[in-house]
Amino acid sequence: MSTAKKAALLGWPVEHSLSPRLHGYWLKQYGINGSYQALAVKPDDLAETLRKLAKEGYVGVNLTVPHKEHALSIVDRMDENAKRIGAVNTIIMNAGLMNTDGDLEGRNTDAFGFAQNLLEGGYKMEAERPIAVLGAGGAARAVIAALQDMGAREIHLINRTLEKAEALAQEFSVMEQAHFIAPNEKMAEAVRHMHRVHAYGWGDFGALENAGLLVNATSLGMKGQPPLDVPLDLLPKDAFVTDIVYAPLETDLLKRAKQRGNRTIDGLGMLLHQARPAFEAFFGKDPEVTHDLRAHILDGR
Ligand code: NAP
Repeated sequence: MSTAKKAALLGWPVEHSLSPRLHGYWLKQYGINGSYQALAVKPDDLAETLRKLAKEGYVGVNLTVPHKEHALSIVDRMDENAKRIGAVNTIIMNAGLMNTDGDLEGRNTDAFGFAQNLLEGGYKMEAERPIAVLGAGGAARAVIAALQDMGAREIHLINRTLEKAEALAQEFSVMEQAHFIAPNEKMAEAVRHMHRVHAYGWGDFGALENAGLLVNATSLGMKGQPPLDVPLDLLPKDAFVTDIVYAPLETDLLKRAKQRGNRTIDGLGMLLHQARPAFEAFFGKDPEVTHDLRAHILDGR
């Protein structure tokens, strides 16, 4: 019987994903006897496929669109990040545990990937300055979780659908209180204050004023999507600008930001770093993100 460890990416569609190339690079680099393949799985088949793969001895899978939220209701347990972000992008399969076909443990590594990419790009949290985040979808949830973990006190969340930004702002402003058992209401209010998320509608770009960091967490500016038309006039010149869109690598937002003197961080590093905890859980090695890896992934696009 083969002792090769098997892992996969499940999505629908999944052909254009860079994850097999990424995990394949690390498997080869570290001489690990393992495989990582992309499997096209229809949304209705997710639960059945996960149980089947666990039974077949897979060590785990990653999930991409459209499975990340659906998986919340399928996994047997999940970590804190998956719970608060409301999405699962990694499932560890502990076959044989609890007398099941395979205990499915959901995790979310997107916040880790986002934070590592920022740090690698030279960003240092300035808690006293607001941070502007564009978008209130799944990726924005991971971005906000990461920023709050890094110490962000005030996030300005700007989204086309204001109600979505408001719901998220309320959830994440309260969430921080839940993490901290305050001894009295006065202190609880102070903590709520320390981690405020304010909601703004699209066009309310006055929210960029004084920001120390601007994050695009919408899909705008991505190849095949409409452009991201955000005026940068009010953004301080010393602010960092990062885009989680990585196709193209230098988005129009990053180009414009660079031209006016802002420091920029592209979105590819988030993809590379979010894969690290998954690779380690699957194959037992915390892999490195290097220039060669970046070049290898960019060649594969
Ligand atoms: P999502 O849940 O569908 O959210 C999309 C966001 O974009 C929403 O805030 C949406 O606003 C906004 N948006 C879409 N079209 C718009 C328009 N015409 N005008 C204004 N706003 C618009 O998607 P997601 O999962 O958050 O992903 C967002 C992007 O991040 C995708 O491009 C994805 O590829 C990328 N991503 C990158 C990484 C990485 O590792 N670098 C990781 C995850 C995601 P409404 O709420 O108003 O619809």
